[in-house]
Formats: sequence, structure tokens, C-alpha cells
Amino acid sequence: MKRAWSVGMKRVDAVVAGAGLSGLSIALALAEGGLEVAIVDRSDPRAVPAGQGDIRTTAISLSSRRLLETLGAWEAVADGAEPILDIRVTDGDSPIHMDYDHRAVGDEPMGHIVVNETLKAALLDRLAGHPGATVAEPGVVSSLAVDAASATLTLHDGRQLAGSLVIAADGRESSVRALAGLRVTRVPYRQSSIVDTIGHELPHHGLAHERFLPGGPLALLPMTGHRSALVWTESTPVADRIARLGDADFAAALLERFGESLGHLRPLGPRRVYPLEMIAAERFVADRIALVGDAAHAMHPVAGQGFNLGLRDVAVLAEVLADGVRLGLDPGSPTLLRDYQRRRRFDSATMMASTDGLVRLFSNDIGPVRAVRGLGLGIVDRIPAFKRIAIRHAMGTLGSLPRLLRGEPL
Ligand SMILES: Cc1cc2nc3c(=O)[nH]c(=O)nc-3n(C[C@H](O)[C@H](O)[C@H](O)COP(=O)(O)OP(=O)(O)OC[C@H]3O[C@@H](n4cnc5c(N)ncnc54)[C@H](O)[C@@H]3O)c2cc1C
Repeated sequence: MKRAWSVGMKRVDAVVAGAGLSGLSIALALAEGGLEVAIVDRSDPRAVPAGQGDIRTTAISLSSRRLLETLGAWEAVADGAEPILDIRVTDGDSPIHMDYDHRAVGDEPMGHIVVNETLKAALLDRLAGHPGATVAEPGVVSSLAVDAASATLTLHDGRQLAGSLVIAADGRESSVRALAGLRVTRVPYRQSSIVDTIGHELPHHGLAHERFLPGGPLALLPMTGHRSALVWTESTPVADRIARLGDADFAAALLERFGESLGHLRPLGPRRVYPLEMIAAERFVADRIALVGDAAHAMHPVAGQGFNLGLRDVAVLAEVLADGVRLGLDPGSPTLLRDYQRRRRFDSATMMASTDGLVRLFSNDIGPVRAVRGLGLGIVDRIPAFKRIAIRHAMGTLGSLPRLLRGEPL
């Protein structure tokens, strides 16, 4: 891996701002596709002390796993990844529930729960050995200049990174997006998710639980051993209060809401609260700029699809750019960027709208709404064709997919 970056260095095909999961994935995909890339983040992704970085886990869908396998980043996370074999959706205390069993559509698990930091390390390791990738010394993006031939990021210390294209993968509050003048629509939820790892007495058998409660959804997602990842959403003041409880009180509050199906529960930590807001960029591209991941669309974690949606951006953008460069086109050309936006906007908008609808439908306790929900869950649970579509949707295998999500190289 080349690490240094100095003023005056030659222009690369694409400069990626942000080395989170989306930035690392697009940098690796492009390098694999034959482009020359540079990536920069404000912090050194390898220097974060354990438990102080991103403590979350991610439900990686089947199609996302195929992309990671194709990029050679899955092998290193596979051992610690736990398959999701079945998802059980319940509505508060109602006895009606919905079960999504992976066997309804084949042998493959619906997805895997992976630890974010493990996945980040795997992606970084792959980039480290890549001749087409440069990881710049950490730096904060502070300005952007675009001319007819290139886009240049200037960092807070004056260093400059220039490329035919700048890819904004700098998260929900993306500075590159703001510097490029791209507007966003924001929907505040006034909810926050408490994240923790929970040890439990009984095995989970690969079953993911999603329980809708009036304060917000509570998910327990299978991890290796007798452990599950907790994503417990409540209104922000309630979430802050619960997160500060001692372990015994926290476990008791969780048991009261979740029930006893996994036996005795024990929080293993670390614990953190993530405030939630939907942020949707009105456009995914500007002159020589493309947005990917949360910079383009940050959403509620209820469906566990935020990063999976980001990987769909990655798969399409990498395909459009690799094919364009093979045809001799400039990677920052408006034709390629328009193509990327055209192929991503509908999927992104529908995923955000359906996730937002789910949050609104389930995060209330109004009697008639509850009755309609119960009816809906009961009906869907009895119609196999509906369930198969919902399972394929969660697996990310519906519709026409770009090559990487089908497990094919660029
Ligand atoms: C509680 C919770 C649970 C979730 N669970 C799931 C799940 O199960 N499945 C799923 O698919 N998704 C899930 N998500 C969504 C998922 O975590 C995000 O979509 C994903 O992490 C976004 O990654 P990103 O790389 O786009 O952004 P980020 O992770 O925000 O990375 C952005 C990077 O840019 C850097 N940066 C920012 N500004 C600058 C700057 N000015 N200069 C330089 N660098 C900068 C930051 O340091 C950071 O490293 C969940 C989200 C939450 C909140």
C-alpha cells in the first residue's frame, strides 16, 4: 500500500473521501476494476482503540456477501460471521407474528451478521496489497475545486488530492456533498438506537428477532456463540436514560420488552446510542462528483439495509466506471455520472420510502393502527408468494443486479 500523499502528485482516476465501510468498498471495487484510486479519511482507520470506533454489527445480505467475496474481502470475516436463517417479526405483545425462513427460497442464509470493525479491517487489508490503491495519511477535507479536467480536494493541512472524479463516501453529514452544493431532505425521527452485544443462556439457532414496540423496534440479531447484537430503538430521551442503566437494570429492562425466549440475558458491551435521522441527497452526482453510501442516503436501521443499499451504489458505480474506462471514457464524464444516478435513484428512493413507512406504521400504539398491523402480519404470514418476495428483498436478490452483486468480477 502506498501511504504518503504530497502536493503535486499525479492525478488519479478517483479520489474517495471517507474510509468508512462504503468508502473502503468503492475504493477496493474500483482498484479491482483497473482504476487508480486514492482514499482519505479524517482519522486513521487502523489507529482506533478497540471498542472506541464503530461498535456496530451489520446484517450483510446475500447479494452484499457475494460482492465482498468477489472483492476478496469476505474470507477474512467469514469465521466471525453468523448466518441469519430465519427472521421473526412480532408486534408488541400480540401473539401474531411473521416468520421468514430462508428455506422458502433455497439453501443460502438470508444474510450474515458481521462486526463492522472486522469488515473494515478486511477491506483495508485488501486495499493495502493493491497496486492501484493509495491510502493517504489522515486529513480532513476542507475544500473542493472542480475544473474541466479534474476535481481536487484540499485537506485541512493544505495537502491536495486530485482525480478525474471525487467520490463522496464521507457519511451522513458529508462535507464533499455540501461543498458540491448538493441539497438534502432531512426527516428527523426523534429516536435513537441503543447498540450493545447481548450474551444469552439459550442458543439463537440463527433466528433474528425484530420486535416492534411503541417506542421503536427492538432487534436481536444472531452473532457467533450464545451472543446476539442488540439494536434497541426508543425516543431519544428514553434511549439515553436506558443506555445509562447499570448492567443488571439494563438486562431487566431488556427482558421485560423482549421476553424470555433466549433465557437469561447479559449485556457484554460496549454500549452506545446512535441518534437517527433520514437524510436523502436530492441528486447523487454533480460535476465530477458522485455520492455513495450514507453520503447519498442515511436511513433508519429498522430494516438493516443502510450499508446494503450503500453496497448497491458501490456495485453500480464501479460497473459504470470500469466499463466506461475500458471504452476510453473519462471516469468523471457527465455521461457516466448520469448513468450512475439513473441506475441508483429509484432503488434508493423506494428503499428509503418503505423504511420510513415501516417506522411510522409501527412506532405508535394507536388502537386501529395496531389492529391493521396485526391483520397485515397475519395475512402476509399466510401467503407464501408474498413471503418469498419479502425474503428475496431482504437477501438483496430481487430485480436486475449489477455484476458484483451477482458474484461476478467487473
Ligand atoms: C444502529 C445502526 C445499526 C445499523 N445496522 C445496519 C445493518 O444491520 N445493515 C445495514 O446494511 N446497515 C446498517 N446500518 C447502516 C450502516 O451502519 C451505514 O449505512 C454505514 O455504516 C454507512 O457507512 P458509510 O461508509 O457510508 O458512512 P460512515 O460510516 O459514516 O463513514 C464516513 C467516513 O467518512 C469520514 N469523514 C467524514 N467527514 C470527513 C471529512 N470532512 N474529511 C475526511 N473524512 C471524513 C469519517 O471519519 C468516516 O470514516 C445501521 C446504522 C445504525 C445507526
